[in-house]
Amino acid sequence: MTEYMQKLVYIETYGCQMNEHDSERMLRLLELSSFRATREASEADLILVNTCSVREKPEQKVYSALGRFRLLKEEKGTIIGVTGCVAQQEGERLLKRVPYLDLVIGTHALSSLPRLVRQVEESGRRICETGFDPAGGYLKTPLPEQCGARVKSYVTIMQGCNRFCSYCIVPYVRGREKSRPGQEVLKEIRELADRGVKEVCLLGQNVNAYGKGAAEEFDFPELLHRIDEIEGIERIRFTTSHPADFSDKLIRTFSNVKSLCEHIHLPVQSGSDRILKRMHRGYTKASYLEKVESLRKNCPSIAITADVIVGFPGEEEEDFHETLDLMEKVRFDDLFSFKYSPRKGTRAAQFQDQVETEVKERRLAVLQERQKEITFEKNKALEGCTVEVLVEGRSRQSGQDVTGRTRSNKIVNFKGGLDLAGTLVCVQITESFPHSLRGETINPINPTDSINSINPINAV
Ligand code: SAM
Ligand code: SF4
Repeated sequence: MTEYMQKLVYIETYGCQMNEHDSERMLRLLELSSFRATREASEADLILVNTCSVREKPEQKVYSALGRFRLLKEEKGTIIGVTGCVAQQEGERLLKRVPYLDLVIGTHALSSLPRLVRQVEESGRRICETGFDPAGGYLKTPLPEQCGARVKSYVTIMQGCNRFCSYCIVPYVRGREKSRPGQEVLKEIRELADRGVKEVCLLGQNVNAYGKGAAEEFDFPELLHRIDEIEGIERIRFTTSHPADFSDKLIRTFSNVKSLCEHIHLPVQSGSDRILKRMHRGYTKASYLEKVESLRKNCPSIAITADVIVGFPGEEEEDFHETLDLMEKVRFDDLFSFKYSPRKGTRAAQFQDQVETEVKERRLAVLQERQKEITFEKNKALEGCTVEVLVEGRSRQSGQDVTGRTRSNKIVNFKGGLDLAGTLVCVQITESFPHSLRGETINPINPTDSINSINPINAV
């Protein structure tokens, strides 16, 4: 395909890593069908808004984004599409509500994207495709020809969720849990390693449930062991883990899978047993704390992060204090906290005892303030330590710095050239900030070899 025949696509993404990765997959599919990415919506032939409906705020953003693109449709006839969770949830209603929208593509129809775009181009018809695909064809991803300077990559290992937490829209918009065949996942990771990728992050709504179901070849801990054997992959991460399915076997992988990073994101949602029960989470505060203790016994340097919801229906001050108490007991490295947002169609949205907005806001502020202190204290404790950093590229703050992450997922900036991108470097932490660390390379810079000399307690 010659350059001048290529059309331009602009993709705007809302939501979690899963959505970011879906956007990458859409781009790869479109690249195989004569499109190339642009960062400018105004020059695009095709605009796609990849959406999230987990909370009300990201859902609202979709409509304001579409409003911004209306003029482009009128002036240039740009094709405009919505993909992802809002597309799945709203379907035809979205076409009715936004008259200049051409395409609505649900979460299971992504692989049909190039065909559907072609149909709109050829027929001018408006199309909505939101059926579920029980065979899981949507999980297949074409790899890019080149990963370029890319150091890390997401790999989807499963889609959907069977847990039906009472507040959550995901099972309705992503469908039932479906694991990708293990051999297919391993093949994709081998190919990524061949293209220079050093770190993979395995994605699924509840990765601990990976492999459950007749057709799968192995379970999640076994998958981790097999990825560990792939040459070139230095680091493995995964998200998200559900505490109720977090097995002892999986906990042990943190001490016996070498490339598995010392970081776990283990959403707790609440510290109150009464609220956890209403959320339908399937564990208690005590059993969550037991898992944390067991994890830390197995892997003392592990960083733990979580999600928390405040103001779930019926949450009293007492329940909120249980959450604060759990925070003090665990001392999370970081916490992603949200005000409860009623989602149409979920059980909790029908509960009568909804919490007032001001109460939710106050609780969120208290919780975030305390977490900020804990995160900063944890970062401070790293001053003087030596850490392994996988360099990702130029720092946004300074043209002389590069940026990367520790195995515990903390951002580190230090002086260095772009030739370090993709290498593992030993860095001594000299200064800590609320959201990042600053350091100096340990001389001489000897990326991969010197890593083995790090004191494991310091290998954050
Ligand atoms: N599968 C993951 C799990 O089990 O924790 C999380 C998936 S969800 C996309 C990410 C986070 O969004 C959840 O952990 C929860 O804290 C938050 N969330 C989900 N539904 C919510 C709602 N209705 N209101 C507020 N936060 C919500
Ligand atoms: Fe939503 Fe619960 Fe499934 Fe996570 S485990 S995606 S919170 S239903």
